[in-house]
Amino acid sequence: MTCDAIVIGGGVVGTSTAYHLVCEGAKTLLVDRRDAGRATDAGAGILSPATNTRDPDPWLRLAAFASEYYPQLVDNLQAEQDGETGFVTCGMILVAVSHDEVESFAFARQHIFNRRDQRGEPAEEDLYEISSDEARGCFPALGDVRGAIYYRDAARVDGRLLSAALHRAAEAKGLTVKHAGVEQLLIQDDSVTGVITDGETISADKVVIAGGAWSQTFGDQLGVHIPVEPQRGQIIHLGLADTDTSAWPIISAVRGHYMVPWPDGRVVVGATRETGSGFEARTTAAGVLEVLAEALRVAPGLAQAEVREIRVGLRPYTEDHLPVLGPVPNIRNIYLATGHGPTGLQLGPYSGKLIADLVLEKDLATDIDAYQITRFL
Ligand SMILES: Cc1cc2nc3c(=O)[nH]c(=O)nc-3n(C[C@H](O)[C@H](O)[C@H](O)COP(=O)(O)OP(=O)(O)OC[C@H]3O[C@@H](n4cnc5c(N)ncnc54)[C@H](O)[C@@H]3O)c2cc1C
Repeated sequence: MTCDAIVIGGGVVGTSTAYHLVCEGAKTLLVDRRDAGRATDAGAGILSPATNTRDPDPWLRLAAFASEYYPQLVDNLQAEQDGETGFVTCGMILVAVSHDEVESFAFARQHIFNRRDQRGEPAEEDLYEISSDEARGCFPALGDVRGAIYYRDAARVDGRLLSAALHRAAEAKGLTVKHAGVEQLLIQDDSVTGVITDGETISADKVVIAGGAWSQTFGDQLGVHIPVEPQRGQIIHLGLADTDTSAWPIISAVRGHYMVPWPDGRVVVGATRETGSGFEARTTAAGVLEVLAEALRVAPGLAQAEVREIRVGLRPYTEDHLPVLGPVPNIRNIYLATGHGPTGLQLGPYSGKLIADLVLEKDLATDIDAYQITRFL
């Protein structure tokens, strides 16, 4: 078998890359091992760059492009395939709930509003402070609120639905999918020429590594360290019977945990960030305790909720909180699309488009210099 491009990994990043490749007519094979712990299947789905206080400026630049692209992609997918993505603009409230959080809340508030004023966006009427009563009015399960900032344009997406939608739309345009692992890259004269998967040799002009937390395994063959580590996240789906949560906003607590409401009475609370966890995609007593304790501290009204499901994902974590996008030094025809850490549902669909454009040798709408692996060398 010979193709124009092979994409390794079928999470949101690989699926988006494959989708954009077939949209441009490239004969593409997606090879996905479907590991337990695939981050896309566990992700909370928060899309809210304007309230992010953790990540550096180059992250925000990419996130701005990614946010602008989201509605267009979702519209295209809705037109091209039968099924939902779960994408909806639902708003978010950043809250402080105890006295010891007031200082970090003040810091976050200053950071968020300074950035809003410098960039001239979002508009003041879309990102502003609200009262405790207003916050509780929007999300009745909240307890005491000592500070709250509301961001109207925050959105959520269901990672499983989104990647399934990309999959369906791509298959309809001719994508071939193989559920297997890629064991080896084929390299000839400093150029990647294909892969070995399930003992079968498949040739391709270009190969993309979008293997999430597992991407580093190809480093030895390529003679480069791919600095992406698994960071385990445990996240819990709670259910509130007979409660209409469809209009509730996302809650982000200033300490870092969050709650994402969905229309079926589901409130997803999370998550642990276990750097150094290794590849064990399983729950731990300490992780579950941490997530529930933090959720109930912020929203005591969730105490009687049913525990519907616990998910565990391995985020593809990089130390500098930026993804790894672009070619590999000294080896031709191989590209990296990984390292999206805790914000891959936000960035990943757009990264997939950029990498597809790179593979197809098109001009890129966004400069990817800041995200290349060469920054680590
Ligand atoms: C608990 C949790 C909460 C999160 N919340 C958010 C959020 O609110 N907002 C946000 O933007 N992001 C969030 N994220 C992050 C986001 O989910 C990830 O960054 C994103 O899903 C990563 O996608 P990916 O395609 O790179 O990796 P993955 O989804 O992990 O997919 C990688 C795929 O590659 C396959 N693979 C690996 N190696 C091979 C191989 N050799 N051969 C074949 N296949 C291979 C794997 O089997 C897997 O299917 C969260 C993540 C977690 C875990």
